[in-house]
Amino acid sequence: ASGWSLLRDPQYNKGLAFSEKERDAHYLRGLLPPTVLTQLLQEKKLMHNIRQYKVPLQKYVAMMELQARISTFCCCIQERNERLFYKLLIDNVEELLPVVYTPTVGEACQKYGSIFRRPQGLYISLKERGKVLEVLKNWPERNIQVIVVTDGERILGLGDLGCQGMGIPVGKLALYTALGGVRPSACLPVTIDVGTNNETLLKDEFYIGLRQKRATGQEYYDLLDEFMTAVKQNYGEKVLVQFEDFANHNAFELLAKYGTTHLVFNDDIQGTASVVLAGVVAALKLIGGTLPEHKFLFLGAGEAGTGIAELIALEMSKQTKAPIEESRKKIWLVDSKGLIVSSRKNSLQHFKKPWAHEHEPVNSLLEAVKVIKPTVLIGSSGVGKTFTKEVVEAMTSNNDKPLILALSNPTSQSECTAEEAYQWSEGRAIFASGSPFDPVEYKGKVYASGQANNAYIFPGFGLGLVISGAIRVHDDMLLAASEALATQVSEENYKNGLIYPPFSNIRKISANIAANVAAKAYELGLATRLPRPQDLVKYAESCMYTPVYRNYR
Ligand code: NAP
Ligand code: MN
Repeated sequence: ASGWSLLRDPQYNKGLAFSEKERDAHYLRGLLPPTVLTQLLQEKKLMHNIRQYKVPLQKYVAMMELQARISTFCCCIQERNERLFYKLLIDNVEELLPVVYTPTVGEACQKYGSIFRRPQGLYISLKERGKVLEVLKNWPERNIQVIVVTDGERILGLGDLGCQGMGIPVGKLALYTALGGVRPSACLPVTIDVGTNNETLLKDEFYIGLRQKRATGQEYYDLLDEFMTAVKQNYGEKVLVQFEDFANHNAFELLAKYGTTHLVFNDDIQGTASVVLAGVVAALKLIGGTLPEHKFLFLGAGEAGTGIAELIALEMSKQTKAPIEESRKKIWLVDSKGLIVSSRKNSLQHFKKPWAHEHEPVNSLLEAVKVIKPTVLIGSSGVGKTFTKEVVEAMTSNNDKPLILALSNPTSQSECTAEEAYQWSEGRAIFASGSPFDPVEYKGKVYASGQANNAYIFPGFGLGLVISGAIRVHDDMLLAASEALATQVSEENYKNGLIYPPFSNIRKISANIAANVAAKAYELGLATRLPRPQDLVKYAESCMYTPVYRNYR
Protein backbone atom coordinates (compact mmCIF):
# COMPACT_ATOMS: atom_id res chain seq x y z
CA ALA A 1 0.00 0.00 0.00
CA SER A 2 1.13 3.55 -0.59
CA GLY A 3 2.14 5.82 2.27
CA TRP A 4 -0.70 8.12 1.37
CA SER A 5 -3.33 5.46 1.94
CA LEU A 6 -1.58 4.25 5.09
CA LEU A 7 -2.00 7.72 6.58
CA ARG A 8 -5.65 7.73 5.62
CA ASP A 9 -6.45 4.39 7.19
CA PRO A 10 -7.51 4.93 10.81
CA GLN A 11 -6.69 1.34 11.66
CA TYR A 12 -3.05 1.65 10.62
CA ASN A 13 -2.32 5.34 10.84
CA LYS A 14 0.23 6.35 13.47
CA GLY A 15 0.64 9.95 12.32
CA LEU A 16 3.90 11.44 13.52
CA ALA A 17 4.69 8.26 15.41
CA PHE A 18 5.84 6.50 12.24
CA SER A 19 9.54 5.73 12.78
CA GLU A 20 12.31 6.67 10.36
CA LYS A 21 12.49 3.07 9.16
CA GLU A 22 8.76 2.90 8.60
CA ARG A 23 8.83 6.16 6.72
CA ASP A 24 11.42 4.67 4.37
CA ALA A 25 9.76 1.30 3.99
CA HIS A 26 6.23 2.55 3.41
CA TYR A 27 6.72 5.53 1.09
CA LEU A 28 5.95 8.04 3.82
CA ARG A 29 8.92 10.34 3.23
CA GLY A 30 7.78 13.89 2.70
CA LEU A 31 4.19 13.15 3.61
CA LEU A 32 4.99 13.90 7.23
CA PRO A 33 6.97 16.70 8.81
CA PRO A 34 10.38 15.51 10.00
CA THR A 35 9.72 15.07 13.69
CA VAL A 36 8.98 11.63 15.16
CA LEU A 37 6.73 11.58 18.21
CA THR A 38 6.11 8.80 20.69
CA GLN A 39 2.53 7.67 21.21
CA LEU A 40 2.75 9.09 24.70
CA LEU A 41 3.59 12.55 23.38
CA GLN A 42 0.79 12.34 20.83
CA GLU A 43 -1.53 11.44 23.66
CA LYS A 44 -0.33 14.35 25.76
CA LYS A 45 -0.88 16.76 22.90
CA LEU A 46 -4.36 15.48 22.12
CA MET A 47 -5.46 15.55 25.73
CA HIS A 48 -4.22 19.11 25.85
CA ASN A 49 -6.31 19.93 22.75
CA ILE A 50 -9.41 18.22 24.11
CA ARG A 51 -9.13 20.03 27.44
CA GLN A 52 -9.17 23.34 25.55
CA TYR A 53 -12.76 22.73 24.52
CA LYS A 54 -15.13 23.99 27.16
CA VAL A 55 -18.27 22.57 25.56
CA PRO A 56 -18.60 18.81 26.19
CA LEU A 57 -20.10 18.23 22.73
CA GLN A 58 -16.97 19.68 21.12
CA LYS A 59 -14.88 17.21 23.10
CA TYR A 60 -17.18 14.46 21.87
CA VAL A 61 -16.77 15.46 18.24
CA ALA A 62 -12.99 15.65 18.64
CA MET A 63 -12.93 12.12 20.07
CA MET A 64 -15.18 10.76 17.32
CA GLU A 65 -13.08 12.37 14.61
CA LEU A 66 -10.14 10.48 16.01
CA GLN A 67 -11.97 7.17 16.16
CA ALA A 68 -14.02 6.86 13.00
CA ARG A 69 -13.03 3.70 11.25
CA ILE A 70 -14.31 4.61 7.84
CA SER A 71 -12.90 7.81 6.50
CA THR A 72 -14.34 9.24 3.34
CA PHE A 73 -11.78 11.98 3.15
CA CYS A 74 -8.91 13.12 5.26
CA CYS A 75 -7.43 16.50 5.71
CA CYS A 76 -5.16 16.09 8.67
CA ILE A 77 -2.61 13.38 9.30
CA GLN A 78 -3.00 13.65 13.05
CA GLU A 79 -6.63 12.70 13.02
CA ARG A 80 -8.33 9.35 12.55
CA ASN A 81 -6.04 7.14 14.44
CA GLU A 82 -7.93 4.35 16.11
CA ARG A 83 -5.16 3.15 18.39
CA LEU A 84 -4.55 6.66 19.64
CA PHE A 85 -8.28 7.06 20.28
CA TYR A 86 -8.31 3.96 22.48
CA LYS A 87 -5.04 4.88 24.16
CA LEU A 88 -6.58 8.20 25.14
CA LEU A 89 -9.77 6.61 26.38
CA ILE A 90 -8.02 3.90 28.39
CA ASP A 91 -5.45 6.17 30.00
CA ASN A 92 -7.95 8.94 30.80
CA VAL A 93 -11.04 6.88 31.40
CA GLU A 94 -12.49 8.91 34.25
CA GLU A 95 -12.11 12.13 32.29
CA LEU A 96 -13.29 10.84 28.91
CA LEU A 97 -16.06 8.41 29.88
CA PRO A 98 -18.53 11.30 30.38
CA VAL A 99 -17.50 12.54 26.93
CA VAL A 100 -17.97 9.45 24.79
CA TYR A 101 -20.73 8.03 27.03
CA THR A 102 -23.40 9.43 29.36
CA PRO A 103 -24.11 12.34 29.65
CA THR A 104 -22.53 13.83 26.49
CA VAL A 105 -23.51 10.96 24.19
CA GLY A 106 -27.14 11.86 24.93
CA GLU A 107 -26.69 15.34 23.58
CA ALA A 108 -24.77 13.96 20.63
CA CYS A 109 -27.71 11.70 19.77
CA GLN A 110 -30.13 14.59 20.00
CA LYS A 111 -27.98 16.48 17.50
CA TYR A 112 -26.72 13.46 15.58
CA GLY A 113 -28.06 14.57 12.24
CA SER A 114 -26.09 17.79 12.25
CA ILE A 115 -22.74 16.70 13.69
CA PHE A 116 -22.06 13.55 11.68
CA ARG A 117 -20.24 13.57 8.42
CA ARG A 118 -19.10 10.00 8.29
CA PRO A 119 -20.82 6.61 8.65
CA GLN A 120 -19.98 4.91 11.94
CA GLY A 121 -22.14 1.85 12.02
CA LEU A 122 -24.64 -0.14 10.04
CA TYR A 123 -28.10 1.28 9.35
CA ILE A 124 -30.79 -1.28 8.67
CA SER A 125 -34.11 0.30 7.81
CA LEU A 126 -37.41 -0.96 6.48
CA LYS A 127 -36.02 -0.18 3.04
CA GLU A 128 -33.55 -3.03 3.48
CA ARG A 129 -36.28 -5.63 4.06
CA GLY A 130 -35.39 -8.85 2.30
CA LYS A 131 -31.77 -7.73 1.91
CA VAL A 132 -30.47 -7.65 5.46
CA LEU A 133 -27.90 -10.40 4.86
CA GLU A 134 -26.52 -8.42 1.91
CA VAL A 135 -26.35 -5.33 4.10
CA LEU A 136 -24.28 -7.20 6.69
CA LYS A 137 -21.92 -8.24 3.94
CA ASN A 138 -21.38 -4.59 3.02
CA TRP A 139 -19.65 -4.03 6.34
CA PRO A 140 -15.87 -4.19 5.78
CA GLU A 141 -15.13 -6.60 8.64
CA ARG A 142 -15.95 -10.32 8.51
CA ASN A 143 -15.05 -11.49 12.01
CA ILE A 144 -17.55 -9.87 14.31
CA GLN A 145 -17.73 -10.86 17.98
CA VAL A 146 -20.04 -8.25 19.48
CA ILE A 147 -22.98 -6.39 17.95
CA VAL A 148 -24.75 -3.62 19.85
CA VAL A 149 -28.11 -2.89 18.28
CA THR A 150 -30.75 -0.27 19.02
CA ASP A 151 -33.99 0.77 17.37
CA GLY A 152 -33.65 4.20 18.95
CA GLU A 153 -37.00 4.18 20.70
CA ARG A 154 -35.81 4.81 24.28
CA ILE A 155 -32.41 6.50 24.13
CA LEU A 156 -31.17 6.99 27.71
CA GLY A 157 -33.97 8.91 29.43
CA LEU A 158 -34.42 11.06 26.32
CA GLY A 159 -37.08 9.03 24.57
CA ASP A 160 -37.49 8.28 20.87
CA LEU A 161 -34.54 9.61 18.84
CA GLY A 162 -35.15 7.33 15.87
CA CYS A 163 -32.17 6.78 13.60
CA GLN A 164 -30.11 9.26 15.61
CA GLY A 165 -29.84 6.65 18.33
CA MET A 166 -26.73 5.38 16.49
CA GLY A 167 -24.57 7.30 18.97
CA ILE A 168 -25.47 4.73 21.62
CA PRO A 169 -24.23 1.53 19.90
CA VAL A 170 -21.15 3.43 18.72
CA GLY A 171 -20.44 4.66 22.27
CA LYS A 172 -21.16 1.30 23.91
CA LEU A 173 -18.83 -0.49 21.53
CA ALA A 174 -16.07 2.04 22.11
CA LEU A 175 -16.37 0.98 25.74
CA TYR A 176 -16.36 -2.70 24.79
CA THR A 177 -12.90 -2.06 23.38
CA ALA A 178 -11.52 0.48 25.84
CA LEU A 179 -12.92 -1.06 29.03
CA GLY A 180 -13.33 -4.69 28.02
CA GLY A 181 -10.57 -5.20 25.49
CA VAL A 182 -12.69 -6.54 22.63
CA ARG A 183 -10.87 -5.76 19.34
CA PRO A 184 -12.40 -2.73 17.61
CA SER A 185 -12.61 -4.54 14.29
CA ALA A 186 -14.71 -7.25 15.98
CA CYS A 187 -17.35 -4.74 17.08
CA LEU A 188 -20.37 -3.81 14.97
CA PRO A 189 -22.78 -0.97 15.87
CA VAL A 190 -26.24 -1.37 14.33
CA THR A 191 -29.28 0.87 14.23
CA ILE A 192 -32.56 -0.59 13.09
CA ASP A 193 -34.73 2.15 11.65
CA VAL A 194 -38.43 1.40 11.58
CA GLY A 195 -39.40 5.08 11.72
CA THR A 196 -39.85 7.39 14.67
CA ASN A 197 -42.74 8.85 16.62
CA ASN A 198 -40.70 11.92 17.49
CA GLU A 199 -42.62 14.76 15.84
CA THR A 200 -39.71 17.17 16.00
CA LEU A 201 -37.50 14.78 14.06
CA LEU A 202 -40.24 13.99 11.54
CA LYS A 203 -40.56 17.69 10.81
CA ASP A 204 -36.79 18.32 10.70
CA GLU A 205 -35.69 18.62 7.08
CA PHE A 206 -32.22 17.40 8.01
CA TYR A 207 -33.42 14.27 9.85
CA ILE A 208 -31.25 11.34 8.73
CA GLY A 209 -33.76 8.53 9.31
CA LEU A 210 -36.92 7.16 7.72
CA ARG A 211 -39.56 9.86 7.71
CA GLN A 212 -42.50 7.81 8.94
CA LYS A 213 -44.22 6.68 12.13
CA ARG A 214 -42.73 3.62 13.78
CA ALA A 215 -43.71 0.31 12.26
CA THR A 216 -45.18 -2.00 14.89
CA GLY A 217 -46.51 -5.53 15.19
CA GLN A 218 -45.75 -8.02 12.44
CA GLU A 219 -43.85 -5.54 10.28
CA TYR A 220 -41.53 -4.68 13.17
CA TYR A 221 -40.98 -8.23 14.31
CA ASP A 222 -40.38 -9.45 10.76
CA LEU A 223 -37.52 -7.00 10.25
CA LEU A 224 -35.98 -7.92 13.59
CA ASP A 225 -36.34 -11.57 12.78
CA GLU A 226 -34.67 -11.12 9.44
CA PHE A 227 -31.86 -9.28 11.19
CA MET A 228 -31.36 -11.92 13.88
CA THR A 229 -31.43 -14.74 11.31
CA ALA A 230 -28.95 -12.95 9.07
CA VAL A 231 -26.64 -12.28 12.01
CA LYS A 232 -26.44 -15.95 12.91
CA GLN A 233 -26.05 -16.97 9.29
CA ASN A 234 -23.26 -14.47 8.67
CA TYR A 235 -21.33 -14.59 11.95
CA GLY A 236 -22.26 -17.92 13.51
CA GLU A 237 -23.60 -18.93 16.87
CA LYS A 238 -21.02 -17.23 19.08
CA VAL A 239 -21.58 -13.62 18.09
CA LEU A 240 -22.99 -11.63 21.00
CA VAL A 241 -25.97 -9.42 20.22
CA GLN A 242 -26.52 -6.74 22.84
CA PHE A 243 -29.93 -5.06 22.71
CA GLU A 244 -29.67 -1.46 23.79
CA ASP A 245 -32.26 1.23 24.43
CA PHE A 246 -35.29 -0.50 22.98
CA ALA A 247 -38.63 0.52 24.47
CA ASN A 248 -39.87 -1.91 27.09
CA HIS A 249 -42.87 -3.03 25.04
CA ASN A 250 -40.38 -4.72 22.70
CA ALA A 251 -37.33 -5.29 24.90
CA PHE A 252 -38.66 -8.06 27.15
CA GLU A 253 -40.23 -9.90 24.24
CA LEU A 254 -37.11 -9.76 22.06
CA LEU A 255 -34.94 -10.96 24.92
CA ALA A 256 -37.24 -13.89 25.70
CA LYS A 257 -37.68 -14.76 22.03
CA TYR A 258 -34.01 -14.80 21.03
CA GLY A 259 -32.61 -15.91 24.38
CA THR A 260 -33.19 -19.54 23.42
CA THR A 261 -31.75 -19.38 19.91
CA HIS A 262 -29.00 -16.74 20.03
CA LEU A 263 -26.34 -15.32 22.33
CA VAL A 264 -28.28 -12.22 23.38
CA PHE A 265 -28.01 -9.80 26.25
CA ASN A 266 -30.17 -6.79 27.09
CA ASP A 267 -28.00 -4.24 28.79
CA ASP A 268 -30.87 -2.14 30.16
CA ILE A 269 -32.52 -5.12 31.80
CA GLN A 270 -29.62 -7.45 32.60
CA GLY A 271 -26.50 -5.30 32.64
CA THR A 272 -28.14 -2.71 34.85
CA ALA A 273 -29.38 -5.44 37.16
CA SER A 274 -25.92 -6.88 37.56
CA VAL A 275 -24.26 -3.53 38.27
CA VAL A 276 -26.90 -2.48 40.80
CA LEU A 277 -26.83 -5.81 42.61
CA ALA A 278 -23.05 -5.43 42.90
CA GLY A 279 -23.45 -1.94 44.37
CA VAL A 280 -26.09 -3.07 46.83
CA VAL A 281 -24.03 -6.06 47.98
CA ALA A 282 -20.97 -3.82 48.37
CA ALA A 283 -23.06 -1.26 50.26
CA LEU A 284 -23.98 -3.85 52.89
CA LYS A 285 -20.51 -3.29 54.34
CA LEU A 286 -21.54 0.31 55.01
CA ILE A 287 -25.23 0.02 55.86
CA GLY A 288 -25.16 -3.38 57.57
CA GLY A 289 -27.46 -6.38 57.33
CA THR A 290 -27.69 -9.16 54.78
CA LEU A 291 -29.31 -8.75 51.39
CA PRO A 292 -32.55 -10.57 52.38
CA GLU A 293 -32.87 -8.32 55.42
CA HIS A 294 -33.28 -5.23 53.28
CA LYS A 295 -36.38 -3.73 51.75
CA PHE A 296 -36.31 -2.12 48.33
CA LEU A 297 -38.42 0.55 46.72
CA PHE A 298 -38.06 1.50 43.04
CA LEU A 299 -39.32 4.55 41.25
CA GLY A 300 -39.75 3.25 37.71
CA ALA A 301 -40.93 -0.25 36.87
CA GLY A 302 -39.62 -0.67 33.35
CA GLU A 303 -36.63 -2.53 31.96
CA ALA A 304 -34.12 -1.26 34.49
CA GLY A 305 -36.44 -1.35 37.53
CA THR A 306 -37.96 -4.81 37.06
CA GLY A 307 -34.68 -6.22 35.72
CA ILE A 308 -32.81 -5.13 38.85
CA ALA A 309 -35.65 -6.24 41.11
CA GLU A 310 -35.67 -9.72 39.61
CA LEU A 311 -31.90 -10.22 39.93
CA ILE A 312 -31.93 -9.01 43.54
CA ALA A 313 -34.77 -11.44 44.28
CA LEU A 314 -32.84 -14.24 42.57
CA GLU A 315 -29.76 -13.57 44.69
CA MET A 316 -31.86 -13.36 47.87
CA SER A 317 -33.34 -16.74 47.08
CA LYS A 318 -29.92 -18.28 46.49
CA GLN A 319 -29.01 -17.09 49.98
CA THR A 320 -32.19 -18.00 51.85
CA LYS A 321 -33.10 -21.08 49.76
CA ALA A 322 -36.68 -19.77 49.87
CA PRO A 323 -38.74 -19.63 46.66
CA ILE A 324 -38.28 -16.49 44.57
CA GLU A 325 -41.91 -15.48 45.19
CA GLU A 326 -40.97 -14.99 48.84
CA SER A 327 -37.95 -12.85 48.01
CA ARG A 328 -39.97 -10.67 45.66
CA LYS A 329 -42.16 -9.59 48.57
CA LYS A 330 -39.28 -7.52 49.92
CA ILE A 331 -39.21 -5.46 46.75
CA TRP A 332 -41.76 -2.80 45.81
CA LEU A 333 -42.06 -0.71 42.69
CA VAL A 334 -43.75 2.56 41.81
CA ASP A 335 -44.63 3.39 38.21
CA SER A 336 -46.34 6.41 36.67
CA LYS A 337 -49.63 5.35 38.27
CA GLY A 338 -48.32 4.84 41.79
CA LEU A 339 -47.35 1.84 43.86
CA ILE A 340 -47.77 -1.46 42.04
CA VAL A 341 -50.29 -3.38 44.12
CA SER A 342 -52.48 -6.46 43.63
CA SER A 343 -55.65 -4.53 42.86
CA ARG A 344 -53.95 -3.21 39.70
CA LYS A 345 -52.91 -6.67 38.55
CA ASN A 346 -55.29 -7.04 35.62
CA SER A 347 -54.22 -3.85 33.96
CA LEU A 348 -50.47 -4.33 34.44
CA GLN A 349 -47.93 -5.14 31.72
CA HIS A 350 -46.69 -8.71 32.14
CA PHE A 351 -43.26 -7.73 33.48
CA LYS A 352 -44.86 -5.83 36.37
CA LYS A 353 -47.24 -8.58 37.49
CA PRO A 354 -44.75 -10.43 39.76
CA TRP A 355 -44.42 -7.21 41.79
CA ALA A 356 -48.11 -6.63 42.48
CA HIS A 357 -48.14 -7.32 46.22
CA GLU A 358 -51.09 -7.05 48.62
CA HIS A 359 -51.43 -3.43 49.69
CA GLU A 360 -53.89 -0.62 49.44
CA PRO A 361 -53.31 1.85 46.61
CA VAL A 362 -50.57 4.45 47.18
CA ASN A 363 -50.35 7.33 44.75
CA SER A 364 -47.08 9.11 45.31
CA LEU A 365 -43.45 8.13 45.85
CA LEU A 366 -43.32 10.13 49.07
CA GLU A 367 -46.30 8.29 50.48
CA ALA A 368 -44.80 4.98 49.36
CA VAL A 369 -41.53 5.72 51.16
CA LYS A 370 -43.51 6.51 54.31
CA VAL A 371 -45.69 3.40 54.30
CA ILE A 372 -43.28 0.82 52.84
CA LYS A 373 -40.26 2.10 54.81
CA PRO A 374 -37.60 0.86 52.38
CA THR A 375 -33.94 0.73 53.35
CA VAL A 376 -32.90 1.10 49.73
CA LEU A 377 -34.38 3.57 47.23
CA ILE A 378 -33.65 3.12 43.53
CA GLY A 379 -34.58 5.57 40.78
CA SER A 380 -35.12 4.06 37.34
CA SER A 381 -37.91 6.12 35.84
CA GLY A 382 -35.98 8.32 33.43
CA VAL A 383 -37.58 11.34 35.08
CA GLY A 384 -35.31 13.85 36.78
CA LYS A 385 -35.75 15.61 40.12
CA THR A 386 -38.16 13.01 41.47
CA PHE A 387 -36.18 12.30 44.65
CA THR A 388 -37.32 15.50 46.32
CA LYS A 389 -36.15 16.91 49.60
CA GLU A 390 -39.18 15.33 51.31
CA VAL A 391 -38.43 11.92 49.80
CA VAL A 392 -34.77 11.97 50.86
CA GLU A 393 -35.74 13.22 54.31
CA ALA A 394 -38.27 10.45 54.70
CA MET A 395 -35.59 7.89 53.73
CA THR A 396 -33.27 9.46 56.26
CA SER A 397 -35.76 9.46 59.11
CA ASN A 398 -36.39 5.73 58.58
CA ASN A 399 -32.75 4.72 58.17
CA ASP A 400 -29.46 5.45 59.79
CA LYS A 401 -27.74 5.16 56.42
CA PRO A 402 -30.20 5.19 53.55
CA LEU A 403 -28.91 3.70 50.30
CA ILE A 404 -30.04 5.92 47.44
CA LEU A 405 -29.33 5.11 43.80
CA ALA A 406 -30.36 7.63 41.15
CA LEU A 407 -29.88 5.61 38.00
CA SER A 408 -31.60 7.68 35.34
CA ASN A 409 -29.47 9.11 32.54
CA PRO A 410 -28.28 11.53 31.37
CA THR A 411 -27.52 13.96 34.21
CA SER A 412 -30.59 16.07 33.43
CA GLN A 413 -32.81 13.04 34.22
CA SER A 414 -31.06 12.09 37.45
CA GLU A 415 -33.56 11.62 40.28
CA CYS A 416 -31.47 13.96 42.40
CA THR A 417 -27.95 15.31 42.39
CA ALA A 418 -25.16 14.08 44.64
CA GLU A 419 -25.21 17.41 46.42
CA GLU A 420 -28.92 17.11 47.15
CA ALA A 421 -28.57 13.55 48.39
CA TYR A 422 -25.88 14.51 50.91
CA GLN A 423 -27.45 17.78 51.96
CA TRP A 424 -30.95 16.47 52.47
CA SER A 425 -29.71 13.39 54.34
CA GLU A 426 -27.27 15.44 56.39
CA GLY A 427 -24.39 13.46 54.99
CA ARG A 428 -25.86 10.08 55.91
CA ALA A 429 -26.90 8.79 52.50
CA ILE A 430 -24.83 6.25 50.61
CA PHE A 431 -25.32 7.54 47.10
CA ALA A 432 -24.49 6.52 43.55
CA SER A 433 -25.84 7.72 40.22
CA GLY A 434 -26.06 6.58 36.61
CA SER A 435 -24.26 9.64 35.25
CA PRO A 436 -21.27 10.95 37.17
CA PHE A 437 -21.28 13.80 39.67
CA ASP A 438 -18.21 15.63 40.93
CA PRO A 439 -17.38 15.16 44.62
CA VAL A 440 -19.33 17.54 46.84
CA GLU A 441 -18.45 19.24 50.08
CA TYR A 442 -20.97 19.21 52.88
CA LYS A 443 -20.19 20.73 56.28
CA GLY A 444 -16.47 20.62 55.62
CA LYS A 445 -16.42 17.00 54.54
CA VAL A 446 -15.90 15.83 50.94
CA TYR A 447 -18.29 13.20 49.63
CA ALA A 448 -17.38 11.29 46.48
CA SER A 449 -20.21 9.29 44.97
CA GLY A 450 -19.93 6.28 42.72
CA GLN A 451 -21.34 5.81 39.26
CA ALA A 452 -23.95 3.05 39.18
CA ASN A 453 -23.67 2.44 35.49
CA ASN A 454 -23.82 -0.72 33.45
CA ALA A 455 -20.51 0.32 31.87
CA TYR A 456 -18.92 -1.54 34.78
CA ILE A 457 -20.52 -4.77 33.67
CA PHE A 458 -21.19 -5.15 29.96
CA PRO A 459 -17.59 -4.86 28.68
CA GLY A 460 -16.28 -7.56 31.02
CA PHE A 461 -19.44 -9.60 30.69
CA GLY A 462 -19.16 -9.60 26.89
CA LEU A 463 -15.45 -10.40 27.05
CA GLY A 464 -16.22 -13.39 29.28
CA LEU A 465 -18.74 -14.70 26.74
CA VAL A 466 -16.36 -14.13 23.83
CA ILE A 467 -13.31 -15.81 25.40
CA SER A 468 -15.26 -18.86 26.52
CA GLY A 469 -17.09 -19.15 23.21
CA ALA A 470 -20.40 -19.09 25.06
CA ILE A 471 -23.49 -19.75 22.99
CA ARG A 472 -26.20 -18.66 25.44
CA VAL A 473 -26.54 -16.19 28.31
CA HIS A 474 -27.73 -17.53 31.67
CA ASP A 475 -28.92 -15.52 34.70
CA ASP A 476 -26.24 -17.14 36.84
CA MET A 477 -23.67 -15.41 34.64
CA LEU A 478 -25.19 -12.07 35.65
CA LEU A 479 -24.78 -13.04 39.29
CA ALA A 480 -21.20 -14.10 38.57
CA ALA A 481 -20.45 -10.72 36.98
CA SER A 482 -22.05 -8.91 39.86
CA GLU A 483 -20.06 -10.86 42.43
CA ALA A 484 -16.81 -10.15 40.59
CA LEU A 485 -17.54 -6.42 40.54
CA ALA A 486 -18.52 -6.23 44.23
CA THR A 487 -15.27 -7.92 45.29
CA GLN A 488 -13.28 -5.22 43.47
CA VAL A 489 -14.36 -2.53 45.95
CA SER A 490 -11.41 -1.89 48.27
CA GLU A 491 -11.34 -0.99 51.95
CA GLU A 492 -10.15 2.45 50.94
CA ASN A 493 -13.15 2.87 48.62
CA TYR A 494 -15.47 1.91 51.47
CA LYS A 495 -13.79 4.40 53.76
CA ASN A 496 -14.71 7.10 51.24
CA GLY A 497 -18.31 5.93 51.15
CA LEU A 498 -17.92 4.38 47.69
CA ILE A 499 -19.77 1.25 46.67
CA TYR A 500 -18.09 0.94 43.27
CA PRO A 501 -14.38 0.81 42.52
CA PRO A 502 -12.97 3.71 40.52
CA PHE A 503 -13.23 3.45 36.73
CA SER A 504 -9.48 3.97 36.51
CA ASN A 505 -9.10 0.25 37.37
CA ILE A 506 -11.70 -0.85 34.86
CA ARG A 507 -9.46 -3.06 32.70
CA LYS A 508 -8.54 -5.15 35.72
CA ILE A 509 -12.15 -5.17 36.89
CA SER A 510 -13.30 -6.27 33.44
CA ALA A 511 -10.75 -9.10 33.35
CA ASN A 512 -12.09 -10.34 36.68
CA ILE A 513 -15.69 -10.08 35.55
CA ALA A 514 -14.84 -11.85 32.29
CA ALA A 515 -13.11 -14.64 34.17
CA ASN A 516 -16.04 -15.15 36.56
CA VAL A 517 -18.54 -15.12 33.68
CA ALA A 518 -16.44 -17.52 31.61
CA ALA A 519 -16.07 -19.83 34.62
CA LYS A 520 -19.84 -19.92 34.92
CA ALA A 521 -20.21 -20.59 31.19
CA TYR A 522 -17.90 -23.63 31.51
CA GLU A 523 -19.69 -24.80 34.63
CA LEU A 524 -23.06 -24.61 32.89
CA GLY A 525 -21.78 -26.39 29.79
CA LEU A 526 -22.43 -23.32 27.64
CA ALA A 527 -18.80 -22.70 26.66
CA THR A 528 -17.43 -24.02 23.39
CA ARG A 529 -13.80 -22.94 23.67
CA LEU A 530 -12.14 -26.14 24.80
CA PRO A 531 -10.12 -27.05 26.75
CA ARG A 532 -10.94 -24.59 29.50
CA PRO A 533 -7.95 -22.34 30.23
CA GLN A 534 -6.55 -22.99 33.71
CA ASP A 535 -6.23 -19.43 34.92
CA LEU A 536 -9.19 -17.53 33.48
CA VAL A 537 -8.15 -14.10 34.77
CA LYS A 538 -4.76 -14.43 33.08
CA TYR A 539 -6.38 -15.78 29.98
CA ALA A 540 -8.87 -12.89 29.86
CA GLU A 541 -6.05 -10.40 30.23
CA SER A 542 -4.08 -12.05 27.47
CA CYS A 543 -7.06 -11.75 25.12
CA MET A 544 -7.55 -8.05 25.71
CA TYR A 545 -6.79 -5.61 22.92
CA THR A 546 -4.16 -3.01 23.73
CA PRO A 547 -3.80 0.18 21.72
CA VAL A 548 -0.02 0.18 21.55
CA TYR A 549 1.27 0.81 18.02
CA ARG A 550 2.59 -2.11 16.05
CA ASN A 551 5.83 -2.00 14.12
CA TYR A 552 5.30 -2.14 10.38
CA ARG A 553 8.16 -3.87 8.67
P1 NAP B 1 -38.60 2.16 30.79
O1 NAP B 1 -38.61 0.69 30.52
O2 NAP B 1 -39.28 3.05 29.84
O3 NAP B 1 -39.24 2.36 32.25
C1 NAP B 1 -39.53 3.60 32.81
C2 NAP B 1 -40.41 3.37 34.02
O4 NAP B 1 -40.54 4.60 34.72
C3 NAP B 1 -41.83 2.91 33.71
O5 NAP B 1 -42.24 1.96 34.64
C4 NAP B 1 -42.64 4.19 33.86
O6 NAP B 1 -43.97 3.99 34.30
C5 NAP B 1 -41.89 4.86 34.99
N1 NAP B 1 -42.15 6.28 35.03
C6 NAP B 1 -42.08 7.19 34.03
N2 NAP B 1 -42.40 8.41 34.48
C7 NAP B 1 -42.66 8.28 35.79
C8 NAP B 1 -43.06 9.18 36.81
N3 NAP B 1 -43.20 10.48 36.55
N4 NAP B 1 -43.26 8.69 38.04
C9 NAP B 1 -43.11 7.39 38.30
N5 NAP B 1 -42.73 6.50 37.39
C10 NAP B 1 -42.52 6.94 36.14
O7 NAP B 1 -37.13 2.69 30.93
P2 NAP B 1 -35.84 1.92 31.51
O8 NAP B 1 -35.17 1.16 30.42
O9 NAP B 1 -36.19 1.18 32.72
O10 NAP B 1 -34.90 3.16 31.82
C11 NAP B 1 -35.29 4.15 32.74
C12 NAP B 1 -34.13 5.07 33.04
O11 NAP B 1 -33.06 4.33 33.60
C13 NAP B 1 -33.55 5.84 31.86
O12 NAP B 1 -33.30 7.16 32.23
C14 NAP B 1 -32.22 5.16 31.61
O13 NAP B 1 -31.25 6.07 31.13
C15 NAP B 1 -31.86 4.70 32.98
N6 NAP B 1 -30.95 3.56 32.94
C16 NAP B 1 -29.77 3.67 33.62
C17 NAP B 1 -28.87 2.64 33.61
C18 NAP B 1 -27.59 2.73 34.37
O14 NAP B 1 -26.70 1.94 34.16
N7 NAP B 1 -27.45 3.66 35.29
C19 NAP B 1 -29.15 1.49 32.87
C20 NAP B 1 -30.36 1.39 32.19
C21 NAP B 1 -31.26 2.44 32.25
P3 NAP B 1 -45.13 3.35 33.39
O15 NAP B 1 -44.74 1.93 33.24
O16 NAP B 1 -46.34 3.55 34.20
O17 NAP B 1 -45.11 4.10 32.09
MN1 MN C 1 -29.12 1.68 27.79
